[in-house]
Amino acid sequence: MPAVVVVGAQWGDEGKGKVVDLFTHYADAVVRYAGGANAGHTLVVEGVKIVLHLVPSGALHSDTKCVIGPGTVVDPAVLLEEIDALQGRGLLAGDQLLVSNRAQLVLPQHKLLDGLREEGAGDAAIGTTRRGIGPAYEDKIARRGVRAGDLKHPRRLRAKLEANLDSCGPIVAHFGGELPDLSEVTDSYLALGQRLSPFIGDTSAWLAGALRDDARILLEGAQGTLLDIDHGTYPYVTSSNAIAGGACTGAGIGPVHIGGVVGITKAYTTRVGAGPFPTELSGGLGEHIRKAGAEFGATTGRPRRCGWMDAVALRYAVHVNGCTELALTKLDVLTGLDELRVCVGYDIDGVETSTFPYDGLGSVIPIYETLPGWTKDISTARDLSDLPINARNYVERIAEIAGCPIGLVSLGPDRVQTVGLTDPFPAS
Ligand code: GDP
Repeated sequence: MPAVVVVGAQWGDEGKGKVVDLFTHYADAVVRYAGGANAGHTLVVEGVKIVLHLVPSGALHSDTKCVIGPGTVVDPAVLLEEIDALQGRGLLAGDQLLVSNRAQLVLPQHKLLDGLREEGAGDAAIGTTRRGIGPAYEDKIARRGVRAGDLKHPRRLRAKLEANLDSCGPIVAHFGGELPDLSEVTDSYLALGQRLSPFIGDTSAWLAGALRDDARILLEGAQGTLLDIDHGTYPYVTSSNAIAGGACTGAGIGPVHIGGVVGITKAYTTRVGAGPFPTELSGGLGEHIRKAGAEFGATTGRPRRCGWMDAVALRYAVHVNGCTELALTKLDVLTGLDELRVCVGYDIDGVETSTFPYDGLGSVIPIYETLPGWTKDISTARDLSDLPINARNYVERIAEIAGCPIGLVSLGPDRVQTVGLTDPFPAS
């Protein structure tokens, strides 16, 4: 079972990029299985910051195959920018990147619609990144999407773009928008297609061969469990299956190949955009965490909402993903706080529960347990035993409530600021 899933266990931005980068050391291939350029992984290597939206974080390791799977939605212009930026730094050489011909394309009309809908929704806006991800997934399900493989066939591409634009006409008109010009869209996608063609192929066939050869495959999720279309805080969710189960459909491999699921969680909680967030801290403490943790979106620059660790939500994430292990990031951000609170239950209309509700999360009252903090700088620790006892107790208590062991603990953005890193692939 040579595949391991790395999945966000909260509302995204958990630091998956850093963990995938560390695990890639043990992997032969990294596959991005869901989402689009609305996700942003920030990696810091030897002090240099690299933000990736579509290309898997494995790109920093020259001998690792990077696969963009069929479950993703690809904005060709964004992807090319990223390829150019990486290649400009001497990364992503030769045939390292393979983009699924089955991946859906984000089209200009998708971005237009995303913006028009969000503006039209007023207070009910979801807070999307307006990158066209939702409308691209809508078109996929409605069976009128255009796929990456179509970029290699100009006539087919032209016909599909025309049909898609036609279908968007009435809804764009409803919002008072102006539909992009067909010949402009076609010309630009033909040009993008020409440059992207060498990277596009049959990732499912490639993965089948790799699995036959016992290659170690890291399946990289985008966003997080609580943003999953089916299991998240609907309707404030993304348009794809971010959870570990989505790795099978989004990459095109069978569940029998999955040998482990590592859930990534911050030592506290953040959320971007609208939607319920029981442990949110609105005052100075929330602001302190935002500053200390540099909690601003990698893709949009939006300030993230910050709050205490919600262990009820985390335990739910452990269940729906089948996490075999958790990785805890950003523990360093909590240094200096006298006391730390962990949400261990919800009060729903006077009834206590530790079950994550399907709806009504906005009106639950969090029940907290308080733990003592620590003041010593932990960002230079290189072993779990270097951490102050209160920091170790905090980590252990979260693992206990979540019902899942915590292996890796991250103490800063750099690769070296990590304790407990081990080979994530189960011995075969
Ligand atoms: P992702 O989408 O899950 O990869 O998360 P982001 O990249 O949006 O956010 C993670 C941010 O936190 C990045 O800027 C990382 O460099 C940074 N980061 C990751 N781990 C740690 C950590 O342990 N401590 C601190 N202070 N920053 C971290």
